[in-house]
Amino acid sequence: MILLDRLGKQYGSNEALSHVNLHIHPKEFVTVVGESGAGKSTLIRLLIREEKPSSGKIIVGGIDYEGVKRRDIPRLRRRIGVVFQDFKLLPNRNVRENVAFALEITGARPSVIKHTVPKVLQLVGLAGKEHNFPRELSGGEQQRVAIARAVVRQPKILIADEPTGNLDPKHSWDIIELLLKINRYGTTVILATHNRDIVNALQRRVVTLRGGRVIDDQEQGAYNV
Ligand code: ADP
Ligand code: MG
Repeated sequence: MILLDRLGKQYGSNEALSHVNLHIHPKEFVTVVGESGAGKSTLIRLLIREEKPSSGKIIVGGIDYEGVKRRDIPRLRRRIGVVFQDFKLLPNRNVRENVAFALEITGARPSVIKHTVPKVLQLVGLAGKEHNFPRELSGGEQQRVAIARAVVRQPKILIADEPTGNLDPKHSWDIIELLLKINRYGTTVILATHNRDIVNALQRRVVTLRGGRVIDDQEQGAYNV
């Protein structure tokens, strides 16, 4: 469960978010929509504790972020996988190594890594591409690697910030279908996007931001920014 209570974030005099109240239940699939500058990425940076709020409360899975110490942050981040528009892969590592790296840094045993990585690559449809480098993959395939890396630690929550922003419509749909599949396996998914076609076709909960405020929150909502 994610609970945001009167959440606010200011950059100087600019209110990037204000009075955001939101409950997201386990296993929900939520789209967060809004024009560029509406506050979507700010919301995500607060959720992954990349930044601290200026006001209000964040509770994720029973953890109140106010009490979180610097040393707790890696554990927190392990519960939340995140993918971005620009993939952020390691260019000098192949597909298998990019995904394995996410486990290595948690101190996972080599036998666990060897067992887990192929399963996750299978899940995202990249079996057979283990030894390719990011530059040898299409944008859609690179985003699959990023998703594999985000879910390999079995997070409870997967957050995707404009994951289809660099992709053509066909590859975009492949990525959305993959997010739906991961959601069906029981992961909460938060998808920030300004892609009208995707939001309208998804027929999921739509939270609309404008000027840093939630102006609409509908089950089976439509894109109405
Ligand atoms: P979105 O992801 O919906 O496009 P953002 O969350 O990136 O919106 O931005 C929300 C507002 O906060 C914008 O006005 C943006 O200029 C501002 N903003 C975001 N990050 C920073 C930052 N690091 N410093 C100053 N202003 C920022
Ligand atoms: Mg953004």
